[in-house]
Amino acid sequence: MIVVMGTPGAGKSTIIRKFKEMHPDAVVVNFGTVMFDIASKHYGVTSRDGMRLLRRDRFREIQGRAAGELLKHGQGIIIDTHASVRMADGYYPGFPHYVLSKLRIDAFLYIRAPPVEIASRRERDTTRKRDPETLDEIKFHEMVNLSMVSSYAAYANAPIKFIINEDGKLDQTMRQFEECVGL
Ligand code: AMP
Ligand code: MG
Repeated sequence: MIVVMGTPGAGKSTIIRKFKEMHPDAVVVNFGTVMFDIASKHYGVTSRDGMRLLRRDRFREIQGRAAGELLKHGQGIIIDTHASVRMADGYYPGFPHYVLSKLRIDAFLYIRAPPVEIASRRERDTTRKRDPETLDEIKFHEMVNLSMVSSYAAYANAPIKFIINEDGKLDQTMRQFEECVGL
């Protein structure tokens, strides 16, 4: 089980889309989608970005249930998720102990990109309702993410592998990604 994380705008979705084209048999599960299925069915949430507005007890309950759902897909999967989720009152861990303890994680893949590129990718992406962040806030969010991922890696005793996804170099990124996944 491989967990892919990265600040929103780092290029996670693009990389994973491309990876699925290259390896149609790979099973990639989006943690946000699993959460959204539960949130929309039971709590009337109408958009994936609306989950960040949930009451925190609900958010945690849904997060824990989503982790249980992942087990249905078996061990050899790639999980597309977030190191931290910025909510109104702070940054929440994407993989708290009640998620980590359910899973056997082989590696964390952390996708990085230059903060300026992250900012302009977020501006171009009109499909999402991202929270506006200044360049400084993007850098800070990245720092929060890295400290969160370190604690997950220590808990799971699994490595963190870093991938840089610079504009115009997707092929290079994909080679790094395949290598990290072990293909
Ligand atoms: P994404 O489409 O990957 O940006 O994910 C959509 C939403 O799913 C995020 O904004 C979060 O609200 C939620 N989400 C994804 N992964 C996690 C996680 N590990 N813990 C909590 N919420 C998550
Ligand atoms: Mg995404």
